[in-house]
Amino acid sequence: MKTLRLILGDQLNRYHSWFNKIDQNITYVLMEVRTETDYVWHHIQKVAGFFAAMQEFAKELEQQGHHVIYIKLNDEHNLQSFESNIDQLISIHQFEHFEYQLPDEYRVDQLEKNYILTLSITHKVFDTEHFFSKREELEEFFKGKKLFIMEGFYQYMRKKHRVLMQGDEPLTGKWNYDSENRKRLPNNHLPAYPLVFNNDVTEIVHEIKKANVRTIGTIDPANFVWPVNREQSLELLEFFVKECLPMFGTYQDAMTPHSWSIYHSRLSFTMNTKMLAPLEVINRAIKEWENNNNKITYNQLEGFVRQIIGWREYMRGIYWAKMPEYAELNYFGNQNTLPDWYWTGKTKMNCLKYSILQSLEHAYAHHIQRLMITGNFALLAGVNPDEVDAWYLGIYIDALQWVEITNTRGMSQFADGGIAGTKPYVSSASYIDKMSHYCGSCYYNKAKRTGDKACPFNSLYWNFYDQHENKLAKNQRISMMYKAWNKMEPSLKSEILEQAEYYLKYINEL
Ligand SMILES: Cc1cc2nc3c(=O)[nH]c(=O)nc-3n(C[C@H](O)[C@H](O)[C@H](O)COP(=O)(O)OP(=O)(O)OC[C@H]3O[C@@H](n4cnc5c(N)ncnc54)[C@H](O)[C@@H]3O)c2cc1C
Ligand code: SF4
Repeated sequence: MKTLRLILGDQLNRYHSWFNKIDQNITYVLMEVRTETDYVWHHIQKVAGFFAAMQEFAKELEQQGHHVIYIKLNDEHNLQSFESNIDQLISIHQFEHFEYQLPDEYRVDQLEKNYILTLSITHKVFDTEHFFSKREELEEFFKGKKLFIMEGFYQYMRKKHRVLMQGDEPLTGKWNYDSENRKRLPNNHLPAYPLVFNNDVTEIVHEIKKANVRTIGTIDPANFVWPVNREQSLELLEFFVKECLPMFGTYQDAMTPHSWSIYHSRLSFTMNTKMLAPLEVINRAIKEWENNNNKITYNQLEGFVRQIIGWREYMRGIYWAKMPEYAELNYFGNQNTLPDWYWTGKTKMNCLKYSILQSLEHAYAHHIQRLMITGNFALLAGVNPDEVDAWYLGIYIDALQWVEITNTRGMSQFADGGIAGTKPYVSSASYIDKMSHYCGSCYYNKAKRTGDKACPFNSLYWNFYDQHENKLAKNQRISMMYKAWNKMEPSLKSEILEQAEYYLKYINEL
């Protein structure tokens, strides 16, 4: 049967069973369409990175003998949406059957589901053969339970997939080494310079500009740093296990203006596009630890494995259990707008300036910058989660809604009221100073709560607790904060709240 198979930009899995055999009756289609470039303002590196990786993948399939149609952004016959292009191809080439893989994003999933209802030819849908868990697995695991606790799901995944296990027990007798993974970088400690690539994406960037796609951030098109094919992805994985894994856990929560990725893997883009599989990533890390366990302590490995088989799968499970309602949740009813400097980095607050500037320059910030700097501030400033989501979904090279929204609206903004996390991740300057090198040279004074140059995080932090007392005071994980707040002199409390009000009023000048 003459078959058309759709490959989405985040389905670049060379080892998918689709590609096991060459079949002249099967045509694969990949397409660059405006419905994907325009649903949010993406970072230019994100758009270029996806297109470059798609083009490489198409080339590779062709070299293997598969029949491929690749529709470029400015192709004359590009109708700029999946459905219209597929309709056009079916009619031109007289395809008799259509196949696609389960999309990771709800938006595209709905679109495909509705589209196949309109088809007059037969169709079939396939799994992406990428994740450890099925879409519904987390929901089934937590059936009947009020809380979705990550640790329980993580342990279940470790047992089910026999990862770092000895019989039914965790390999070392302990499941989680997070408490060992909270160190600040020593002064003068410079992590290895991140491995970057020199991909030439000039032509792609030219086409994006020609089409007037609205983007954010910057790019050096002749030296595009992100991996765009499987070989480069494997190189990045090798670099990670050799140069970063030995320190990954220890400095996982550390922040510094002197390194944009510290010991993080930067593998999220290659995994989210499926150029690498999560199983091979953790297996490679485990092998490196087995061969060098005198050099790599177990907490480094367990911390890394947990992010992938734990957090990544957990977030995806929450997404499929809770969408589409999840995208509307706004537990605190936040309505403020995102400060202008989120788009420019032009703020006097060092922590935010560096985290935003590096995001604009590299389309990347590591987890603790996303959670405890940009996310923390947005929550303290009462920004509408729709705006926060749009920013995160656009700016990061790895941003796909299934993993972006659960982390942003859920974990970071607590807009889900405690599904993805058990308490809001907010902090004053003391945490930021403890974990980073940002505060020392900041315009603001980390120790001051009120008055000239007082760090905005300090007053906004107490203001947040004050405002949301009715929703948070009963949460046992934060009841200590309310004890401290209620012990303060009323005059001091008023001063702090006034300072917060002033900062919120002049937020664009911070
Ligand atoms: C507000 C916010 C928004 C985020 N948006 C995204 C996003 O759009 N896309 C995305 O892939 N991740 C997102 N994350 C999760 C995490 O920050 C990134 O996966 C990570 O920073 C990517 O860099 P890395 O590959 O160097 O990660 P590493 O620190 O090296 O971690 C290894 C891998 O573990 C996985 N991982 C780690 N933490 C998480 C997590 N919380 N959820 C899911 N997977 C995780 C990633 O696949 C990552 O590549 C977000 C986190 C926050 C707090
Ligand atoms: S003093 Fe405040 S604003 Fe400045 S870097 Fe520290 S936490 Fe950020």
